[in-house]
Parts: sequence; C-alpha cells; structure tokens
Amino acid sequence: MKAAESQQGISRFGSWDVAIFSLLRAARSSRFVADPIARSSATPVELQSDPASWDRLAPTSKEDVLADQRARPPYGSRPCLPVKSIGLIVESSGSSGSDKEIHYVGRQDMARIRRSWAEQMRRLGISASDVVAFTFPIGMSGGGIKHSRAYEELGAKLLRIAHLSTEDKLSVMAYFRASVLVATPAYLDRLAFAARETGKALHDLGLRKVLTATQSVTVEWVRGIQESAGVKLYEWYGTSSGLAAFTCSEGMVNSRAGRGTLHWGPASALIEVADPVTGACVADGEKGDVIGTPLFSQAEGLFRFRTGDEVTFVAPGACLCGSSEPGIQNGTVRRLDDMFKIKGSNVWPSKCESVIFGFDEVEDYRVRIRLDDDRRERVKLEVRTSVAPPDLAVRIEDSLRRRTGLKFEVVVRASGADWEQSTSGEAGKVKRWIDERSGASLQPPPRQTDRENERAPTRRAQPRIGHRAGTPRSAPTSATL
Ligand SMILES: [Zn+2]
Repeated sequence: MKAAESQQGISRFGSWDVAIFSLLRAARSSRFVADPIARSSATPVELQSDPASWDRLAPTSKEDVLADQRARPPYGSRPCLPVKSIGLIVESSGSSGSDKEIHYVGRQDMARIRRSWAEQMRRLGISASDVVAFTFPIGMSGGGIKHSRAYEELGAKLLRIAHLSTEDKLSVMAYFRASVLVATPAYLDRLAFAARETGKALHDLGLRKVLTATQSVTVEWVRGIQESAGVKLYEWYGTSSGLAAFTCSEGMVNSRAGRGTLHWGPASALIEVADPVTGACVADGEKGDVIGTPLFSQAEGLFRFRTGDEVTFVAPGACLCGSSEPGIQNGTVRRLDDMFKIKGSNVWPSKCESVIFGFDEVEDYRVRIRLDDDRRERVKLEVRTSVAPPDLAVRIEDSLRRRTGLKFEVVVRASGADWEQSTSGEAGKVKRWIDERSGASLQPPPRQTDRENERAPTRRAQPRIGHRAGTPRSAPTSATL
C-alpha cells in the first residue's frame, strides 16, 4: 500500500486539514513560514484546496532553522505566539551552541503533548502503578522533559537517576522495584552486565519493560537482551522539532520474531517518508527520508521539516497489532548526516575530523566506538604520523574533549599497517569511524570495493565522512535525548 493511497485520500499520513490551517495562519505572522510558500510552485489557494499540492511546498532544513536563529536571536522569526504563550523551549543536542536548533512549544500544545505521550505509554501497559527508572538527563533537550510530563500524567513515579553511577542506579532501581527503564541500547547493555556481575538479571530487580532510543540495533540483540535480562523492549522516536512515534504493544521484536513498528498518530504529526531522489512517498517496507510537520505546534511555524533520518515505512494495517496508524520499522532508524550518539551526546565525525586534521602532524586516523569488558562506552582514536611530538596524543585528546565533551583514548601510530581496526575492513574516508557497540552492526554492506578503498585519499581531500547508504556502523536517530 502506498502512502499516496492512504485512507484519508491524501498524499501523506497526518491530518492535512490541521496542517494547512496551521500553515496559512503561521504565514500571516512569520516570514520564516511565508518565504517557503513564496518559493513554492503551489499558491496558497492551491495549497488550501488541493491536498496533493502539499508536496510542492518547499521543505525546511536544519540549516534554515539555524540561519533564522542567528539572524534574529534567540527565537528567530518562527514564533507565531507571544513569548508569554510559550510553555517550553527545547534545544537539539549539538557539540556547540551554534549547532543547536531551538524549538518551542505553546502552553496549550504542551498539555496536548503530555496527554499524547501518556496515551502512548498507556498502550504499553505503563500506569500509575509503575516506577520508572530514567537514565537520560532532563536537560534542555525535549525528550527528557516530555517523558517526565507523560509519566506525571499517568501518575507513574519517575526515578531521576541520570547523575548516579551504574552501581548506584541499580541500587535505587532495586530499592524502589523499578518496573520500567528508559535507557539507550548501549547503556541497557551496561546495566544488564553490571546486574549480572552481582548474580542478578534486571528482571530480578523488578524490571519488566525497557524504552530505548538513539541507536539502531539488530533483532538478535533485542531478542538476546530480552531473554537474558527478562524484560520486553520498546522504542520511541523523537525529534527536537516535535515529531514523535512509539512502539506498539507488539514490542521492538513482534510476535512473529520480526521487527516491530513505531506508530505515529495522524493527529499529532503529518509525516512523509519520501524517496530521497524522486521525493515521492515510498511503499510499505521501503526506505525513505522523514519529512515531518508537527501538528502540536501553534507556537512555532515549522512545516515539512527535513529531519535527516532514514527510516523504513510501515503502511497502516501492516503491523501485527492491526493498527490503522502508519509507522516506521523498529530498530532501523538511521541518521543521514553521520552523527553518532555516544554517552548520550551527539557527535559529528566531520567536526571531530576538523579538530584532528587541525594538527599538521596527523596524516590519517581511525575512530572506534565500542563497549569495553565492563560494557562501558569507549572511543578510541588512532592517528597516523611520521613525526610525532611526545605530547601529540595529549593535545589531540584535550582539543577533542573541548569540542565534544567526550574523552577520546588517543593512540599514535607510525604506520597504517598498525591500525587496530581490522575487523570491518576499514579503509578510506567512509569507514574511518566504526561502531562496535552491541546490537549496533546492522548497516548494509559498504558500496566501495577494497580496491576503491585502497585508492581513497588519506588527508583532507574528502572531508565528508560516512555515506548515506553504505556505512557499516550503528546509526543514531535524531531522538531528542
Ligand atoms: Zn503496531
């Protein structure tokens, strides 16, 4: 079933009438909204009268949002409500202030988001009886606070344990008999490992359900951790721009041992899963890019926003749960801009590369993200140089820590023959970064042949790292956490 043949008789999945009403209203008060309409091949009259003209509206990019903020700080020209009516300001996570999108939610919409998220949790069986162990910080990003408000709405108890050590988190979870855990896949691995070290599975502490996000994972990894930890895994997908989708009761791995579905409510967002070349909506089971319009968004004019996420579309009715809501496949959301989520932080290889190659001594490098024997996330950087001052590794480590907030373990090599990364056949620009965290190795095989890789230049000639369709690594989503 194609998206264009949706039951609403429109070309996208979402409440088009709400979207078009919001668009025309926002355009009256915001140049940020009016300008794309002016650039579009569809007139306001056509947009209002013909749902099929929606995809002729020029999309909005992250760069548009950032440029708007820089031109008119702090909110840009997007606000459609006065500041007194804004209920929440959120930022996307980024490695510096200038990289962060700022989004805002009206007070009325915040109440709707709270109810909508709570309803999704309710479908998973989460209720006032549950105690939720929350391992993400509740900071400026949107996911933390939206989760928090949703559990408030349900009456569930939220254990705010992000600041605690792994051992202390487990102690608190056991003491309060936490039944729900919210954690990244990598951190779930770490918690499960630490619990096993004490002779217990997470189930023994009282845990029954886990909500996760930010990393793509294999079916085998989900099944493995479900069996070993005695819990059921669910996922959510969220963006700082206000899009959200949640796994249904089938879970991340469904009752036929296949991948489950993240559904979104057509009342909450109009989401297009579009072919990156033709722009046409893809069919059930096909990959496409997410272009989304949040509908709980009276405060901010944001329409047809390119998220930079690649997903696999699930048509209404295709999920085993029988829902008429459309969705995206669990565990396979993939960033298209090469971002990695490491210890909860967004890390862009291109930004790290500019730091690494800022040192003239560095001729080439490799980065490996992995879990150590204690299942802690580690980042190792090997740099190749023929003239290594004794303090080179320390200076690179300091610079990367300032840029990303993360500790890189830096090792200097005299020859590329000494690269530690031989497991995935790394070579060439597209494979300088690999992610070996558990359950994170589902990406398709690389397009380049070994011969092509051998010819790949080693320094600066090709600054873009990674490839939209061929990078063999885990791919974090743009989840707001
Ligand atoms: Zn479903």
